[in-house]
Amino acid sequence: MRGSVRARRRSTPGFERLPSKKVILALVDGLTPSTLEAAVGTKEAPALTLLAENARYTRAVSVFPSLTPVCVSSIVTGSYPDAHRIPHLVWYHREQHRLVEYGSSFGAIRRAGMRQSILDAILNMTGEHLGDAPTIFESLDDAGLVTAAVNIPCYRGRTPHRTVIPGVTRTTLGPKRFFFYGLFESDQTGAPAAWRSRSAGTVDAYAAAVARWLVTRDGFDFFAYYLSDYDYLSHAHGPDSPREGIARVDRALWALIEAAGGPDDFLDRYAVLLCSDHGQTHVSRSATLQKRFRDVEGAVVTASNRAGMVYRLDGCRLEVPELAAKLDREASVDLVAYRDGEDVVVRREGAEVTNGVLEDYPEARTRLAAALRNPNAGDVLISAAAGYEFADLGGGHHAGGGSHGSLVAGDSEVPVLLVGLEGEPRSIVDFAPLVRSHFGV
Ligand SMILES: [Zn+2]
Repeated sequence: MRGSVRARRRSTPGFERLPSKKVILALVDGLTPSTLEAAVGTKEAPALTLLAENARYTRAVSVFPSLTPVCVSSIVTGSYPDAHRIPHLVWYHREQHRLVEYGSSFGAIRRAGMRQSILDAILNMTGEHLGDAPTIFESLDDAGLVTAAVNIPCYRGRTPHRTVIPGVTRTTLGPKRFFFYGLFESDQTGAPAAWRSRSAGTVDAYAAAVARWLVTRDGFDFFAYYLSDYDYLSHAHGPDSPREGIARVDRALWALIEAAGGPDDFLDRYAVLLCSDHGQTHVSRSATLQKRFRDVEGAVVTASNRAGMVYRLDGCRLEVPELAAKLDREASVDLVAYRDGEDVVVRREGAEVTNGVLEDYPEARTRLAAALRNPNAGDVLISAAAGYEFADLGGGHHAGGGSHGSLVAGDSEVPVLLVGLEGEPRSIVDFAPLVRSHFGV
């Protein structure tokens, strides 16, 4: 991959600086650095190759747990989970005394209540659960820029949109141009229905049709282009079998380039930040964490993919360190963390670990501390052992495929291509500030 951004539209001394290019945030869910690196230069990936040849490439670290709702909220707000307050794919709502399940699996949604889960994922996550940390859409909307997004699960902006979900009359605040699986559509684009066949790639095909419409009209200053098919395929087949996934991602990116009139016109008009939200590692076994706490009244376990949490409710006879100690001999558990005042205690195999051990995990202390300070998080946080996944509410898992959520590098590192953008992002929380500064906001 080339090491520097090709100089395009550089302002000549003595001339006014040209207006900032419009920005596309291409967020490819679950894309790992090694997969992107392997794809660049292949005939399956002409769009990724074009972007990479004009980009500065780096890797950044995700947040913990490295799960989509948490990571995308961090990307959109530029903050860790202590500020944006989304703790996991599944969590216990202390004020409402209930579980919140954003969609670990069909079985998990059914167990948590189908209607409630759908409302939580589509409306409540962004509308109620997301903390006050301003989103990139809000910052840019306030600066008078035109924001747009398709399918991104964290989307709060300044423009009210009415849902077209049958039987639901609710309004949500989104970007100016907002498209969400056909459930919200600020403009008539003629995009085909998103959910015709998830496995055949219709979700990203819907996103690509919307993107083509937006680029053809030059209809935004900032566009969050969220592609989720890659993650879907990685969960099913594992992180190293993504040929079809990469081909789909590339087709969706090429749709933008084609709509702009070809590579030169595209690169002249747009700056691009291509990234992922988390990594993905192989899983071969599943474990049910709830079993360890069946005899403990007042302890609620939420687990999904490769991260878990234990909540200590009022009246629980065990203190937080005792709850953590119940996982000391659990083979599926790698690290267990909890707060002791302002300190973070991290245990592995029944003993407190030293900072030296944590050096193997990217940004471990920062990520664990921010995750534990999240008021919606459990009192004990759990990072899964290699090859393991925690069964969700419905008993679902991806054993034999891929998963993520833990603190290990494979789950946590994401690739970053910066095309026409300045900055040195080290964490996914650096993306939003980088875009804001591009626009001088
Ligand atoms: Zn994801």
